[in-house]
Amino acid sequence: MPQIETNTIARVVVDIALDREFEYRIPDSLNDSVHAGSQVVVPFGRSKRDGFVVALSGHAQHADLKEIESVVGEKPLVGESLLELSRWIGRYYCAPIEQAVRCVLPAAVRARDVSFREQLFVTLDPAAQSDAFVDALRKRAPKQATVIEILKSHGGMFLQELCRQAGTTAAVVQALRTKGAVQAGTRTVRRRPEMDREILPTAPLDLMGAQKEALDMIRTSMDTGTPPAVLLHGVTGSGKTEVYLQAIEYALSQDGGAIVLVPEIALTPQTVERFAARFGDRIAVLHSHLSEGERHDEWHRIHDREACIAIGARSAVFAPIHNLKLIVVDEEHDSSYKQEEAPRYNARDVAVMRGAREPCAVVLGSATPALESYRNAKSDKYGLAILPARVDNQKMPHMEVVDMRVEAQRNDGKPCAFSKRLIDAIHDRLAKAEQTMLFLNRRGYASSFMCPQCGYVAGCGNCSVSMTCHTQDDTLKCHMCGDVRKLPERCPECGDSAYRMAGIGTQRVETIVGKLFPKARVQRMDSDSTTAKNSHQKILGKFRTGHIDILVGTQMIAKGLHFPNVTLIGVIYADMGLHMPDFRAGERTFQLLTQVAGRAGRGEIPGLVIVQTYTPFHPAIQAARRLDFPGFYDQEIEFRKELSYPPFTRLVCVTLRSRSAERASFLAEALAKAIEPLLPKAAIMAGPAPAPIEKARGYYRFQIILRSSAVKKMVDAVRTAVGNTKWPSDVTYAIDVDATSLL
Ligand SMILES: [Zn+2]
Ligand SMILES: [Zn+2]
Repeated sequence: MPQIETNTIARVVVDIALDREFEYRIPDSLNDSVHAGSQVVVPFGRSKRDGFVVALSGHAQHADLKEIESVVGEKPLVGESLLELSRWIGRYYCAPIEQAVRCVLPAAVRARDVSFREQLFVTLDPAAQSDAFVDALRKRAPKQATVIEILKSHGGMFLQELCRQAGTTAAVVQALRTKGAVQAGTRTVRRRPEMDREILPTAPLDLMGAQKEALDMIRTSMDTGTPPAVLLHGVTGSGKTEVYLQAIEYALSQDGGAIVLVPEIALTPQTVERFAARFGDRIAVLHSHLSEGERHDEWHRIHDREACIAIGARSAVFAPIHNLKLIVVDEEHDSSYKQEEAPRYNARDVAVMRGAREPCAVVLGSATPALESYRNAKSDKYGLAILPARVDNQKMPHMEVVDMRVEAQRNDGKPCAFSKRLIDAIHDRLAKAEQTMLFLNRRGYASSFMCPQCGYVAGCGNCSVSMTCHTQDDTLKCHMCGDVRKLPERCPECGDSAYRMAGIGTQRVETIVGKLFPKARVQRMDSDSTTAKNSHQKILGKFRTGHIDILVGTQMIAKGLHFPNVTLIGVIYADMGLHMPDFRAGERTFQLLTQVAGRAGRGEIPGLVIVQTYTPFHPAIQAARRLDFPGFYDQEIEFRKELSYPPFTRLVCVTLRSRSAERASFLAEALAKAIEPLLPKAAIMAGPAPAPIEKARGYYRFQIILRSSAVKKMVDAVRTAVGNTKWPSDVTYAIDVDATSLL
């Protein structure tokens, strides 16, 4: 092979699913413009394709290379460290490289048909500045005079905004243009999401002792790289956000930038406002509800260094912030940080990896840290900062556990939805004009439709789950695939009309509350009641202003909301998540109860939380009642250790899907046999076995679950075995490294 000069070869990922990097020669004419991170056009087969340069090299592995045809844009879209991060994601999460690259380069940025929006920008001619001119104009053309006055105070403005403020039309501005009093030219408008309101700026608050210590640790991490990550364990209401804000301020004072990750559900205008109030235009917002255009513009505001703080959900961890000094992952335990489709990355873990590579400081904040993170902190891999008390002398809420088995005995053995204790407490709050939140993590009216005569249960034809009754529109719905049927009037099997709706959902809670407290103003908030745009905000607004007495909801109301007048929280059925076939069931229940409890007593009046359960002595419920995270951790970590579950091992879940149960089962057996001899020592393999939800959306699902502390070897074993398997077109597979959902 002939000797090739330095960096004349580009490794290019082409925008189609091939899981490969291709080599192209860089022609002399493009030598200065092709970099790692450049978007390029390359010949591919007989066509031309968009591609993305992931690396440059001086040596080709193949002969007879084709040449890059052209470069798109003036500078590379992302830098080397982000490229390296995407390649790490491909390797670690066992994902094709082009999918991993798509993470760092969102569709709105890659797509060439999304571009900046140009609009007319109007400026004032110096000749029209004089008071005499305006005075003369005011008599003959008052509207034109208004336009001039607005331009005088603002300097220049987009035509649309100018017309809006002057309460006039473009024709008026055009008339001024003809006179030569104003000039107009095109300029790029940035589409800004959620920024059309005035936000009052805030100044840094005084920190309490523990907050100061936390901030010091984060600053030290930024200055010295040690500790590489800080776990900020603070009870709800302990002022974590103020610590984040001041840490960001420090990063900015060092000419750096920051990323703040928030769970999707908590990324409300309320959250964004707190950051906007401190940092104004320096923040950019990235999340999945933006339009393509908004996302394109926000990304470019970051890329062009107009914004130096990115705030967003999961994918914002890839924001191309210049001189990144800090990544904050708020509610770091939240399951929404894990992407459910390939690449199945966890944004918290990617943040820690990015932090090590940039390098920059990483802060993981939570009231209920994930066991993985807390163990890293206890073993000094991360720094640990603790905020043990609420700010402003707010007391922690008091939690009472009510044994619903005893309630059922009182009720002639029949289970009931509301305990006497909870009913009394709600009456008391209504009398005092204080507010109540009732929490149940299941929407709909009842969880199943069943016939006591013949035992029939309405199940979904596509999924192995029962259908949920929705009485509002008299339907049965599958919460897995969305299938809808009319609610039958009698049993479809035996024709009996004495069917039962078993189990309870938020609709039923709302109905019961309406009967128990006829005078109370009740509102339900779940994904069924918030389908209309902004209905979510409207409900919260009504609640905040005291137009709702009792708010009933799913986990939508569990996170990040602060209402000073809420003094009572009722958890209708705390056991719901406990009986899931998942080793994290206890941890999730503890987290959820703690989060829900955090909504109570955020004002001056202390809060009460009433937890209704059929398993009152479950360790997760008892630990939550005592607000005792370390106690919960000590107990749970023993159980994980004994059974070799994470954090003592890493877990890989391989799921095979097919419309044919036999085919999926057969391939799963073959794959398991191929994986087994390749596994590292002491690895544990469970399955293949049908997944807990055996059938979903018409596909049968089989799982192989692997556990080992040697994650790289384990992933390699899976990758090799999957690569050696001949996959028929009717069976597909998904590899989930560090899986968080095992259903
Ligand atoms: Zn029947
Ligand atoms: Zn279904």
